[in-house]
Amino acid sequence: MNGSVKTLGLLPPDFIKGDMFVGQSHPGVVSYEFLESRGITISTSKPLPVDAVSTAHFRVEDDERNPSWWGSAHVDFMKNYRRRAFVLYALGLSTSSAELIKNGNGGFKPYLKIDDRFREYYKNTVELLHSIFRRNGAKIVNLYFIDGEGNEYNDIHITTAHMTSSCRMADNIDRGVVSSKGEMFNYPGLFITDGAVIPSSLAVNPYLTILANAERMTKLIVENYRRN
Ligand SMILES: Cc1cc2nc3c(=O)[nH]c(=O)nc-3n(C[C@H](O)[C@H](O)[C@H](O)COP(=O)(O)OP(=O)(O)OC[C@H]3O[C@@H](n4cnc5c(N)ncnc54)[C@H](O)[C@@H]3O)c2cc1C
Repeated sequence: MNGSVKTLGLLPPDFIKGDMFVGQSHPGVVSYEFLESRGITISTSKPLPVDAVSTAHFRVEDDERNPSWWGSAHVDFMKNYRRRAFVLYALGLSTSSAELIKNGNGGFKPYLKIDDRFREYYKNTVELLHSIFRRNGAKIVNLYFIDGEGNEYNDIHITTAHMTSSCRMADNIDRGVVSSKGEMFNYPGLFITDGAVIPSSLAVNPYLTILANAERMTKLIVENYRRN
């Protein structure tokens, strides 16, 4: 689990307007400022149109109108959404790990235990991201994540597309499933080279690391089995 924490803000009125849906306003930004002190990186992301209806209810700080996600409050928010809404998200080193649980139909369901340590991490990270917005004159938009029926979750809600570590690479079988060459302990000749072998979350988007590691392992396999 990649410790993903997402926040949203509205850029100050005196900033130039962006086009957050299709513009080239803020792609590829990543800050390592807090990697050593907090184990996180911070990146920006576009608030997509679909998020406005299916991801969360929004409440602009200091706007007391109720409901915040429908009617005049929402109309006013949507007028700014495309031009001024700005996502700041953090990715972190593992503070909590997910499990795959049998779903009873022959498949598996991912489950993340939200413990006190993770709650503390989540709270501190949201506060940090909000403070960056505030110090730059932006307005915080509080997020209330919703399920497929539009109901708000009662607890911290986490989503991730960055699963790693289900077959960890390790020095020995007590700590993982495959060696640093990707070969499964006690099953010579069976290799795993995808994201499953990455030993922990990475605090950055994982694709390049997964790819680089797969290429490294593939080279070792080829060298090992090459016919001279
Ligand atoms: C919506 C989304 C957005 C993302 N955005 C980013 C991003 O911006 N940056 C980033 O770095 N990462 C991103 N990721 C994560 C990144 O895409 C994954 O971490 C990465 O692709 C995982 O690589 P992999 O090789 O481990 O697995 P995969 O890319 O999932 O490859 C596994 C392959 O195995 C195949 N397969 C499965 N079962 C079998 C079977 N039984 N027999 C044969 N083949 C099988 C699958 O078809 C698939 O091709 C995103 C992921 C998602 C879902």
